[in-house]
Amino acid sequence: MTAPLIDPFERAIRYLRVSVTDRCDFRCVYCMSENMTFLPKKDLLTLEELDRLCSTFIGLGVEKLRITGGEPLVRRDIMTFFNAMGRHLDSGALRELTLTTNGSQLSRFAKDLYAAGVRRVNVSLDTLDETKFAEVTRWGRLPQVMKGLDAAQEAGLRVKLNAVALKGFNEGELFDLQAFCAGRDMDLTFIEVMPMGDIGNEDRLDQYWSLKDLRARLEERFTVTDMAERSGGPARYVRLEQTGQKIGFITPLSHNFCESCNRVRITCTGEIYTCLGQEGHSDLRAPLRSSPDDAVLEDAIRKAITLKPKGHDFDYSRQSVDGQVSRHMSHTGG
Ligand code: SAM
Ligand code: SF4
Repeated sequence: MTAPLIDPFERAIRYLRVSVTDRCDFRCVYCMSENMTFLPKKDLLTLEELDRLCSTFIGLGVEKLRITGGEPLVRRDIMTFFNAMGRHLDSGALRELTLTTNGSQLSRFAKDLYAAGVRRVNVSLDTLDETKFAEVTRWGRLPQVMKGLDAAQEAGLRVKLNAVALKGFNEGELFDLQAFCAGRDMDLTFIEVMPMGDIGNEDRLDQYWSLKDLRARLEERFTVTDMAERSGGPARYVRLEQTGQKIGFITPLSHNFCESCNRVRITCTGEIYTCLGQEGHSDLRAPLRSSPDDAVLEDAIRKAITLKPKGHDFDYSRQSVDGQVSRHMSHTGG
């Protein structure tokens, strides 16, 4: 058996997130500017290249694969890729195949995703108000996402909502979002806004709503108990005793989670980022295209893993946005 991927800080790499496109049918204010320039098609990994790359990682011990973007479900023929990854679920090498989506295309794809072996999806939704939804996504329409949620649950997919906590925007909807998820038996995770990419006229500090504050507000109405459960990722979970609901907090800024980080990310052009919050990356597209021999690719992957840093440097604490990284979240995939 091939040796697993272990980084310099003794963390085994078991989780791969892959962005399959930089394009999106929305233009969320914290993620993209309104006029984005997207990459030329030739720079993107083909579906065959994505398959080879993911399969190589799975051969090296990756057990969980999350597909993201941009919006993964706008990539042409993306179901071909999901269907192909199903073989690694069948063999038992892969434990979970999942995706993060804005939900706009779920009514079309939910059944097919289930058939490919997907059992859980993360759907990003920051507000339940139609006008505000159109404002935050610029191009999105809430009823379309609601239909997507219905389709996902009807198909048997377990849904988790991810909501970015935005000061002065969805603060007033905390309990509406919580009740909505309780009513539909969906998990809910809040994400602190991260300083990534130029987003036009928006101001990061204006957007930042600390999850410490959000939790304190939940505590005004519920008994909030910390759960031991960790996903190896940045989320921490609590249970609301009155509803039995699980709520996650992704707090890259107010809480450092790097010591247990078991993940790496790949962009749609085949760059590997071993830390979401650092600029450091290595190119895997050149080794992928230079030779049909997987050993060349494997070498490049191992080399990249030796460069995984200990952690990131995001910091809002001094009223300026420190540690900002220049790429957009849609480039690395959230
Ligand atoms: N388009 C899909 C979606 O929206 O779910 C997948 C890609 S999106 C980049 C992944 C996640 O990143 C979403 O939950 C989104 O809300 C989050 N995100 C984007 N920009 C962010 C930022 N600057 N800070 C925190 N989260 C961000
Ligand atoms: Fe698109 Fe997701 Fe970014 Fe919104 S957060 S613009 S849906 S990639």
